[in-house]
Amino acid sequence: MKSLYRDDEAAEYVRRYPNVAPELALRVYTSRLIGRDPALVMHGGGNTSVKGNYRTLLGEVMPAIFVKGSGSNLDAIEPAGLPGLDLEYLTRLRALPSLSDEEMVNQLRTHLFVADAPNPSVETLLHAFLPHRFIDHSHADAILALTNRADGEALCRRLFGNRVGIVPYVMPGFALARLCAEVFERDPEVEGLLLLKHGLFTFGDTARQSYERHIALVTEAERHLARESEGGRKLTLAFDAPADAPTLAARVAPLLRGMLAEATGDADQPRRRMVLEWRATDEILDYVNAREFAGLALTGPLTPDHVIRTKALPCIVAEPAWNDDRELEEQLAAAVTTYRHAYNQYFERCSTARGAAKRTRLDDFPRVVMLPGAGLFAFGASKKDARVAADIAEHTLRVKVQVHAAARYEALPEADLFDVEYWPLEQAKLGKTREKLLARQVALVTGAAGAIGSAVAERLIEEGAHVVLADISAERLATLCDDFATRFGRDSRHGVVCDVTSEAGVRQLFEEAARHFGGCDIVVPNAGIAASRPLEGLELEEWQRVQRVNVDGYFLVMREAARQMRRQGTGGNIVVIGSKNTLAPGAEFGAYSASKAAGHQLAKVAALELAKDGIRVNIVAPDAVFGTDKHPSGLWAEVGPDRARAHGIDPSRLEEHDQARNLLRARVNGRHVGNAVVFFAAQQTPTTGATLPVDGGIAAAFPR
Ligand SMILES: [Zn+2]
Repeated sequence: MKSLYRDDEAAEYVRRYPNVAPELALRVYTSRLIGRDPALVMHGGGNTSVKGNYRTLLGEVMPAIFVKGSGSNLDAIEPAGLPGLDLEYLTRLRALPSLSDEEMVNQLRTHLFVADAPNPSVETLLHAFLPHRFIDHSHADAILALTNRADGEALCRRLFGNRVGIVPYVMPGFALARLCAEVFERDPEVEGLLLLKHGLFTFGDTARQSYERHIALVTEAERHLARESEGGRKLTLAFDAPADAPTLAARVAPLLRGMLAEATGDADQPRRRMVLEWRATDEILDYVNAREFAGLALTGPLTPDHVIRTKALPCIVAEPAWNDDRELEEQLAAAVTTYRHAYNQYFERCSTARGAAKRTRLDDFPRVVMLPGAGLFAFGASKKDARVAADIAEHTLRVKVQVHAAARYEALPEADLFDVEYWPLEQAKLGKTREKLLARQVALVTGAAGAIGSAVAERLIEEGAHVVLADISAERLATLCDDFATRFGRDSRHGVVCDVTSEAGVRQLFEEAARHFGGCDIVVPNAGIAASRPLEGLELEEWQRVQRVNVDGYFLVMREAARQMRRQGTGGNIVVIGSKNTLAPGAEFGAYSASKAAGHQLAKVAALELAKDGIRVNIVAPDAVFGTDKHPSGLWAEVGPDRARAHGIDPSRLEEHDQARNLLRARVNGRHVGNAVVFFAAQQTPTTGATLPVDGGIAAAFPR
């Protein structure tokens, strides 16, 4: 690991933040250098501080500490992400015999300089009790690879000598802060503190000194690991997969996702699902396919705060029966059942042992599943949570393999993991955040780049769903994906180019949904085209072209949706975009109206067939949606002029014409259609086989 510190960059940070002290600007700079390297910290892990002065409104100058607040990642931290506190007061807290976590948080909050600052790190007192100006803390992989083994402490002493003080594991909080100060004071010459099974603190007079001491110690650890690895034990390949990982992952992901969806007992919202992040790099496949896989995987996490993201252990099937679907399903079900049972026993054991405070049991589902042949499957309430769990799992397996080269990997005892997983401050947050209407669900929309499709997808994302955007135009799809990434974040959507008339293409679309998000819960067949021609002038080829997209396409998408939803076993919603034309057809619009009637009828039959699996099929029947400048309707661009002729009006007046013919004089837009899709997808009423018109009220299209 190399120091990334550059004088010119450091000077640039001082210039960039003219309103804060240069020390704080440099603190931001080297915090980001640490945050930039995932081998040091990941996803909000680690923290840094700087001590200086604070000038009050009355002009009094007081000693202050600026320490990382919760909610910031080091790689993008800003000065405001390092809230300032009254240092003199905090150091006096050290005299207390004990301090509960709740009271510690209260003491920190009430000694901030800015009322709405983020909560300072739970390791703030540790920073405050040490005298150094700059302090850097990481959970470096290489350090954990040294400490997480039976002889970890002796090895660290041998390797680092007097450069660091060694601190046994204690959960972060007041007690750890006091212990670290004591260890430091025994040898004030040390450059840092090495916290067993937790991480590394370094300190210095300047931002550069503290940062570079950190890098130097981690580099020393890396060199040692490299030496061990050279002549050390390697993994031995033991599992020969019958197909490539992406194929196996697409098969198994919906099964797993279904098994990890918690039954709620609520008939309207029967499942609490999770979203998937699947990974199968060479490193991961070497690990899951190794003879040593189960032995290494079923050891504890690198450091306890990972438990909140990944739980202590992954769920594994040591030898999946990839050649026998039924047996594979039984193996997975048995593995999940065993996992849940073991988790509950762990909870009972530890909560009894810890006695005193009552803890609320968390769900007993795994967050990481590993399968030889297919790789790593991480789950979370959102794609982002799943990605975080996957990142941690990847780093964890890397460290375990490093340790395996020369030693036996050893994690903390389960009671210590339990204390962090069931930390009172985390417990207090339970049930306080209200999830969005469609949170944890995956939707799939065809024709997603069009006027209706893009608006439907947008409404689904706004309500919390993750959306697979399928469209035949790679170019329009890329634009939409970029737009959604900017507005809703890259995890909100996944684009797949797909021709819905291709049987193989539609199958691949659902396989991609399975690999990317784990499956699908809401499917919106929407891709459609039209032709405006009187019956006698309609060529067979044109008629067939419309039927292929609007009928074959809907059929193929609904068939694959039904198959995947059944495989998940957690119900779902198919919301078919129909048309006002089904009930009130228009002249010279035969190919389109007939195709829409077919889609309508297919939806009703699907409702009959799929109800027993909890899959609802409903229809939204909009009148013409002309789109916006950003998302114009391809369909109306093509047939608009002909439709205008059929109505005997000028093409520019077509939209006006449509508006004038409905009772509410409404201009129907894509978001209206999206609202109707959301209504069905959210299962607000026990309804299937129904049609909801979104047409401003057209008497001729009233159901009869
Ligand atoms: Zn830490």
